[in-house]
Amino acid sequence: MAEVLVLVDHVDGEVKKVTYELLTAARTLGEPSAVVVGAPGTAGKVKESLASYGAAKVYVAESDDAAGYLVTPKVDALSTVAEQASPAAVLVAATSEGKEIAGRLAVRLGSGLLVDAVGVNGDGSVDQSIFGGAFSVKSKAAKGIPVISVRPGGVEAEAADGAAEEVSVSLPAVDPAKSARITGVEPVVGGDRPELTEATIVVSGGRGVGSAEKFEVVEKLADALGAAVGASRAAVDSGYYPAQFQVGQTGKTVSPQLYVALGISGAIQHRAGMQTSKTIVAVNKDAEAPIFEIADFGVVGDLFNVAPQLTEEVAKR
Ligand code: FAD
Repeated sequence: MAEVLVLVDHVDGEVKKVTYELLTAARTLGEPSAVVVGAPGTAGKVKESLASYGAAKVYVAESDDAAGYLVTPKVDALSTVAEQASPAAVLVAATSEGKEIAGRLAVRLGSGLLVDAVGVNGDGSVDQSIFGGAFSVKSKAAKGIPVISVRPGGVEAEAADGAAEEVSVSLPAVDPAKSARITGVEPVVGGDRPELTEATIVVSGGRGVGSAEKFEVVEKLADALGAAVGASRAAVDSGYYPAQFQVGQTGKTVSPQLYVALGISGAIQHRAGMQTSKTIVAVNKDAEAPIFEIADFGVVGDLFNVAPQLTEEVAKR
């Protein structure tokens, strides 16, 4: 069976959920092989969990440089392994870092690039949600080893047994002139909540929330649900919430099981980042708001009445 490479998304050896989704998607195309790039000792921390999602092989590229530079070591590791193994495809998470890695890798390999897939099919095609979710298309790479970035939450992770046979990969020396070195890592605010693109539930607030102080109503519902907090661009631009929580075309793309939109009109640029959520709940006082076109459940009402009641009900359970 053909190998399918999956870049392991991890923070200091803590594997992100999207990696398991990628390993699951890879199984529709062949046999998944995980590629771990990080500081010495990373593979030891992640191997067991990769095996439990079907990784037959674990390629290990470990060095201080691998952990110390953005993007470049991962592209180097993936291209080195891809050239040796001739895999059926390379899968990378469609995060901001993953998208850059996928683009650079496709150029390096002279391959077709399929971006932001929400499904990977056995015939090598992928499903994509385009034009702000208005259309679904199937695409296939016409050239080389397809490099596919898969939207976090796009595919449901399913466990499977894998041998996780370890293979060491040596990386070329990083050229500091061509690479961005990581000079510091700081935790983001709201650190106790799940990461936005990893969360099973996201509660987002829009301009309708009205101020930074009032965003507390969004946070309280999020905390009752164990959810991440998101924001529309208008909320971010108005200074209600930090930019790293923006959902949409120019923010993050999320695909959780449940997306709750509070005081968000549902502009196409916002929908582009959340339209593929499995269940969408909208609260808006305007019955004509476009968000209701894509909501599975909608409440026409004032979010300051509805959200606290919802928080109270959830907290009782
Ligand atoms: P509004 O459109 O102002 O909607 C606020 C909503 O709140 C209204 O529907 C109103 O009825 C409702 N409301 C008000 N008070 C209450 C209340 N008390 N209770 C209940 N409901 C209430 N937007 C994004 O979100 N993400 C992006 O990544 C993004 N990228 C963009 C990129 C480009 C190139 C451009 C041009 C725009 C982009 N936008 C993006 C902006 C987008 O077009 C919208 O302007 C934005 O999404 C609107 O945010 P909003 O829904 O919070 O605000």
